[in-house]
Amino acid sequence: MRITIHRGADQIGGTITEYEHNGWRLFVDFGEQLPGAPISDLPDIEGLTKGDFSKTAVLVTHYHGDHIGNIHRIPDYIPVYMGALGIEIQKITSGRLKNIDKKHAYLLERLNRANIFRAGIIFEFGPFRILPIVIDHSAFDAYAFRIEADSIKIFHTGDFRMHGLRGKTLFSVIDSIIGKVDYVVCEGTNVIRPDVTLQSESELQRLMEKDFKQHKFNIVFLSSTNIDRLFSIYHAALKIGIPFIVDYYQKDIMDVVVEKEHIWTKSMLYRYGSRMPMVLKYDKENPGEYFTNKKFISYLEQKGYVLIVRSNPSFDRLIERLPGESKQCYLSMWEGYVNDPSSPSYNVNLAFSLGKGYIYRHTSGHCDIKSLHNLFTKLSPKAIIPIHTDSPNSFAGIFNNQWKIVLMQDGIPLIYNNF
Ligand SMILES: [Zn+2]
Ligand SMILES: [Zn+2]
Repeated sequence: MRITIHRGADQIGGTITEYEHNGWRLFVDFGEQLPGAPISDLPDIEGLTKGDFSKTAVLVTHYHGDHIGNIHRIPDYIPVYMGALGIEIQKITSGRLKNIDKKHAYLLERLNRANIFRAGIIFEFGPFRILPIVIDHSAFDAYAFRIEADSIKIFHTGDFRMHGLRGKTLFSVIDSIIGKVDYVVCEGTNVIRPDVTLQSESELQRLMEKDFKQHKFNIVFLSSTNIDRLFSIYHAALKIGIPFIVDYYQKDIMDVVVEKEHIWTKSMLYRYGSRMPMVLKYDKENPGEYFTNKKFISYLEQKGYVLIVRSNPSFDRLIERLPGESKQCYLSMWEGYVNDPSSPSYNVNLAFSLGKGYIYRHTSGHCDIKSLHNLFTKLSPKAIIPIHTDSPNSFAGIFNNQWKIVLMQDGIPLIYNNF
């Protein structure tokens, strides 16, 4: 078996990894680059964008754009495999954006024809046996894969973390169904960012509950598809008895999580409680504005609110109309979007909407170093290949006293058992 990292050996984002055996090709993810990444043109890839497609399949780990963002470019007859709930969530997002961005119209069409795999159920493609493992990440229904062919077992982590609500379950899953593997292909997003994992998702949950007790008028800037955070905030508001408000798009995403069966959604976290989220509607007479009236405003004046927003002018204008002279804003997304105007990741609209005096309530969707150590100890591979990192050398520096770390270059294949 041969591995090629087409993109992602030395950057976070734009991820494309290929496993090849006897002419059969299994690609994991086909993502777009993150803003500010060193621009590398979409590589022309044999079996994926050119040549013979008859022995190719693509696995998608999760719906973040750096993993799924180029899926619409895959020729029609190449099968794409993804988790069912991840597909549904992405379809809601792409459905909303399809008239603004043609890419989302294609993506939606592609996802309508995607094949579904199920957590813990092995499936085969050519010589490959693939075991999808549902894994904790800031995207819901995210997967790692154990991929077997040519008598070699590989664990491809995808994006993941151990400090999330179910992060620790991975170890029992390793014991029960994954076992030892020969190689680990591992994301290394946080090897130079140890501070971003200091809080666990459940600590954050408790802090936000305290916040909402302290502040009556709350505005939370949050990624619409960060499901665990979203439901944690909903239940915190519910517990305190303060109205929780989302727009119809965000509510659609919550509904699909509540309604669709998933290995994790049996938890009460993903159920509606005694009070449903309040849903904002658009004002039919003022296109682009959210509807408010006196009754709604005076209700919120009395009860307070937790409003979930995205950075856009409609929300900015709504926030101005809502009661509360001092509204408390929260950033529940990576702070890199707003703290350095010279950075390529800087989001000028978000920084404007958020303003000053916000409370930062976020923890990373990616794994910390200690947990990576624990994972490698458990899987005891012959070698580890870092991907999805902007510092492969740091990854090697941290782990190469205990494990063999193989640093690859984009587009240059390696044959397993030769290293
Ligand atoms: Zn991700
Ligand atoms: Zn990613």
